[in-house]
Parts: sequence; structure tokens; C-alpha cells
Amino acid sequence: MTEDYTIDMIIQKILTDDKQYDLSKIITSYEFAAKAHEGQTRSSGQPYIIHPLAVAYILLELGMDTDTICSAMLHDVVEDTPVTLEEVKKLFGQDVAMLVDGVTKLNKVPIFNKEEQQADNVRKMLLAMSQDIRVIIIKLADRLHNMRTLKFRPGVKQRNTAHETMNIYAPIAHRLGMRGIKEELEDLAFHYLDPFAYSEIEHILELKKNEREKFIESIKQIIAQRFRDQDFVETPQIDGRVKSIYSIYKKMFVSQKTIEEIYDKYAVRIIVSNVGECYNVLGLVHDMFRPIPNRFKDYISTPKANMYQSLHTTVLGKEGIPFEIQIRTWEMHATAEYGIAAHWKYKEGSQHKADKMDQRLAWVRQVIEAQQTSDDVEEIVRIIKTDLAPEDITVMTPKGDSISLPVDSTIIDYAYRIHTQIGHKTVGAKIDGKLVPLDYKLKTGEICEIITSNEPDKGPNRAWLNIAKTNEAKSKIRSWFKKECREENIVTGKDELEKAFKHYRIRIPDDKLPEFLADDLKRHNCNTLDDFYASIGYGGVLLSKIIARLKDKYLKNYHEAEEEKETAVIKPVVKPTSGIILDKIDDCTVKFSQCCNPLPGDEIVGFITRGHGISVHTVNCTNYKAAVRRNNPDELARWMDVQWTDTEQRTLQTSIEVIAVDRVGLVFDISAILMEARIPIVHSSSRNLKNGNALFEATITIAGTDQLKNLIEKIKRIKGVISVERARV
Ligand code: MN
Repeated sequence: MTEDYTIDMIIQKILTDDKQYDLSKIITSYEFAAKAHEGQTRSSGQPYIIHPLAVAYILLELGMDTDTICSAMLHDVVEDTPVTLEEVKKLFGQDVAMLVDGVTKLNKVPIFNKEEQQADNVRKMLLAMSQDIRVIIIKLADRLHNMRTLKFRPGVKQRNTAHETMNIYAPIAHRLGMRGIKEELEDLAFHYLDPFAYSEIEHILELKKNEREKFIESIKQIIAQRFRDQDFVETPQIDGRVKSIYSIYKKMFVSQKTIEEIYDKYAVRIIVSNVGECYNVLGLVHDMFRPIPNRFKDYISTPKANMYQSLHTTVLGKEGIPFEIQIRTWEMHATAEYGIAAHWKYKEGSQHKADKMDQRLAWVRQVIEAQQTSDDVEEIVRIIKTDLAPEDITVMTPKGDSISLPVDSTIIDYAYRIHTQIGHKTVGAKIDGKLVPLDYKLKTGEICEIITSNEPDKGPNRAWLNIAKTNEAKSKIRSWFKKECREENIVTGKDELEKAFKHYRIRIPDDKLPEFLADDLKRHNCNTLDDFYASIGYGGVLLSKIIARLKDKYLKNYHEAEEEKETAVIKPVVKPTSGIILDKIDDCTVKFSQCCNPLPGDEIVGFITRGHGISVHTVNCTNYKAAVRRNNPDELARWMDVQWTDTEQRTLQTSIEVIAVDRVGLVFDISAILMEARIPIVHSSSRNLKNGNALFEATITIAGTDQLKNLIEKIKRIKGVISVERARV
């Protein structure tokens, strides 16, 4: 792909395309954008206009319409030049102005950002998508060109952009069925996220390039030979290709296999005229090569959630080399390659295609619906990440309709997907005629019948929130509780908040409470304190997510007046040998006892152990109470007064990166050390690197470098850990 895009390339492409374009409008938009961006350059040093030209070209290849191409030319003018949206509207019309506005809004702030902003941005993105799906298609093309030219950006920017691309944009491209764009985005992002693994796979593929090409060529010939004496409407097209680097990498991981052992790194695609021929070809292929058992998938009768259709089978070729064969019609091929964009490419097409388009847009609506009832930021991001997970299962209703759900979906998810009211009234389910529990994990091909209650008032159970996998089901369950049990929710929520305040030693007089919580009420769209309690009650507001911030606010603004009272409250039951503050002691010498698990804010005492430093207990611990009862002076002398570090001082945030041999329980072991050291985790993530290694990253709040050094030493001692580093910021 050349990097020097010109308007001539665009004109050439339009003139040779059989689709109708308004060429003069496109040229005008180019001239307008070129003038607006005049003097600006890309990080590569090239004139800025190269970028809009590239985005327009990518969209042209996808077969998008005139307005989309014009909007691509103009997509950065409102953001980066003095041109206003009104001017764009006057010159190019309402549609182009709306598309440019949508893309500009999407561009404004990156998605991975501070928690609150992140939610806002994801909302904006969904909103833009809901107004016109072309906005997100332009954004995907924009991101694709930016990824192709990412090498010119600074290192930190590269990593963030790659991360965002892998987590948000590639899954969206996948969900919209745009295979080409999805694979290129993934490969480019992967290149920056794990350059080592990338170049290794690339190297291996390069090494045997000739051999591989010969292999694919010979397979194609054998198949073509066999097709010669068959009756086809048209001669089938046979393509051969090697799968994308990232998809090979994923397979190596999931199956823990070497690249040589991956079945379908070679793929042969056969495109025919109609569905009947697909199955005929399948029969021929299975007759020619030995199929590998359990590798046949019929995505024609049960399409994937992104509407992908094909027959897949893996067979053994010459010398026992396995390869995948995909069989599909031309129409299925267009959907597989261009996804939702096929709608524009073949706009004059049948009603059938319009229906498919509707089904895809239904997904977008579903995501937006789910996020409207959710106040939880992480959940919105999770919708993008998990609900878009490439692997879906397909379950049948007793009537034979197929329902696609994410892997690990349960009866609850299925019931709510069929209908909200069916979900609410579910009491049980039968799989292939046999009764199963509600947390049963559905598998592809199963026929599931939901048993509902006849009681008119039957509603969901709160425990279902832990059973449901999809955000759709969860938000429907929450909405029910929100509506049906407002009174109960207020009581539950108030009680939960009071308990949390007590636990975290937040003491706010009742008359100050509305003022103290004002920000949070606004953030969660609550008008009154009761609304807020109700939200906590039904789970729309998660206390665990907001309590740290409340504690912070409390310490900053409300704590002063309370201070004296507080020291008076922590009166040691036993005469202390000396008062110590936890962070003044080397962390290695302090252990938090397993018997009572003290938490910050608990009233605590320390016990001087023989040779293991000080173990910390709560004043309510049975061990401590027993010691007080025994009243043995020698023993009591070993109990001492300790206090929590002033949390106000613990504001330093840092990130650590742990590289380790991946194994079950690794993340748990690291987390355990962080918990044991009472180090709050602001954010953490882990992912697999090549050859079984895992990268665990955590942003933590830490008291100082000494504590950090200590922590790093401790993590290094965990089994399998290769290196622990303080991450570059
Ligand atoms: Mn751009």
C-alpha cells in the first residue's frame, strides 16, 4: 500500500468503478480540505491532506457512498482548521455536516482515559454510531490509516493507540463483519503491543514463503481439476491465503501449540453461485481429502452473530499437512469481507440484504439500550469488549429459531434475549428435553426451552445478577428491581451506604449529607438522596466503585473538624508499650492476621511475634479478647497500640509490570501480595505474551519508594515471575 495518496488515485478508482459517484462533489471536498489543511503536516512530514485522501481511498475500496467519501476528505477540518461546521453544511449539505460532526466528536478525546471521561467517550461513540453507522465506518478507516502510519508517532502514543485499537476498534470492525479492516487493525496493533512475538511469527512465515505458496498452489490445482467435470452455474473461484499474523498468534495461545501444529494457518476459499453448490463442494472436498473430525462448522444454517456465513472444514492435504477450506456464495463473500459496508457496496440489492443490515443495526441499538440503564463505567467498556467477543454460541429455540449469545451465557441470558418478560418469569429450563439449573452454561446446537411461572407478579432474583453473563440480561434485571422495588431499594441502599461509611470511618452529619454526595447524585442522574439510595439498592451504583473517592473527599474537606473526636475514639484497651504508625515500620515486619483480617479503618492492635515482626489484629478479634481475659502481664506486654497510616499521605500512584510464566493462579498470587501489603489497586490488567509468558500490569497507590521496593522484591519471589519493573509513565 503506497503512502502517497493523490486525488488522481481517487478519480481513477471512481472512474473504473461501476458504482455511481458524484465526482465533482468529491473533487470539491478535496479542494476545500486541501486548502484548509494547507501548511499542516503529518508526523511523517508529509502534507496533512495525504491523511484525508487515504481515509477516503479506504472507504472507496469498501464501496461507501459519495457523502461518506466527502466526509472522509473533510473529517479533520472542523477539529484542526478554522473551518466551521456551518461552512461544511452550506457547501456539502446536512448529511456530510452530520457525518463530519460525528467523527469530530469521536476524535475529541481518547477512550482510554480517566474513568469518568472514559464512560463519557464511550457514550459519545455509541451515540454517534446510533445516529448514523457511517460515522463509525469513517472512524474505522481513519483509525486504519493512523495505524498504518503509527511508526511516526512517539512510543507512548504508539502503545496507547495500539491498545485502544485492539480493545475497541478491532472488535467493532469484527462485530460489523468487516473482516479485512478487522484483521489489518489487529495485525498492526499486535505489532506494537508485542513486537517480539509479531516479528517471530512474521519471520517463520517468511522463512517458508516459497514452500507455502507452492503448497497452496498445488491444493488449488487439485481442487480445480476435480471441479472440471462437475456441473456448476459458473466456474467456482478458488483462493488460497495464509491467515493473519494475529489470528495465528491467538491460535498458538489458545491451543498452546507451535506454529507448525496450527491446523488452519492455511486457508483455501471456494466461492460458488448458490447455497446448493456450497454443500456439493463440501461433499467433493471431503471425498478428495480426509476431513479432521469435529472441525466442520456450518455457518450457513446458523450464521455467526455478525451475520458471517460459510461452511468451514479442515482437511489433510499432501504429506498430512492440514488446511482449512471455507465454502461460500458470492453474496456471503461480500458480507464476510465488507460486513455492514456491503450494504452500501450493493445498495441496489435485494430486501434480503436490507434485513441483514437491520439485524446489524439492532446490535448497535442493543448496546446503546444496555448502556442507558447502566451507571457503571466499567460495564459500558465491558459491553464493547465482551459482548463483542468473537466467539459466540448459537442455541435453538424449540421452534427452531437460532439465538446467538456470548460464550458462557446461561439460561438467564438466553431467557432475557428471547423476551424481557420471559426473562422475568423464568423458573427453569430444559435442554434437549432435560431439566437444567439456571446457571447452566449453554453450548452451540442445544435446543433450550424456558419454563415460565404463571404468577403475574413473578420477577427476577437478585442472585441472577451473578449468574447472567450478558450485560443485556443484567441491565434488564436491574431495571426490574429499579422499577418494582423502589421502597425496598431505598432501605437496602441506605443501609449499605451507612455500613460502608462506618467501615471506612466516614462520619458525615445527616444535614451535611446532601452536600457531601451532591457530585455523586449528579454523576448518577439522581435528583434526590432517595433516588441515590435506590440506585445503590438495585445495583446501578456500585459502592465499591465510589467509596474510595468518597473517602478521599471526606479526608480533604470534612475530616479536619472531626479529627479530635477521632483520636479520642481509638483508645487502646490495653496500655500500649508504644504507639506506632504502620508505615513507619518496614512492611516486611508487619503482617495482617488471618484470624480477623483487619481493614483500613478498623480499630487495630499489634502483637509482637517471636521473630516474625508485628501481627496486626482488630480490637474485636477473639484472639485479642482472649488475651485480655487471661490478663497475663507478660503476654499483655506484647500487645501494642498501632494505627493506620494517614490515608491522605497515600496518594502516590505508580504502575508496575510483571512478566511471568503464565500459569493458573498467577494473577491471584500477585493480587494476594498487593492485598496483604494493603496496597490499593487502581487498575490492573493482564494478557498473554508469546510462549506462555504473561504480562500483568497494575496501577497502584503507594506510600513511597521504600514500600515499592519491598513490594517488587516480594513479587519477584512468586513462582514463575521473570521480571518486575516499575512501568515507564
Ligand atoms: Mn483523522
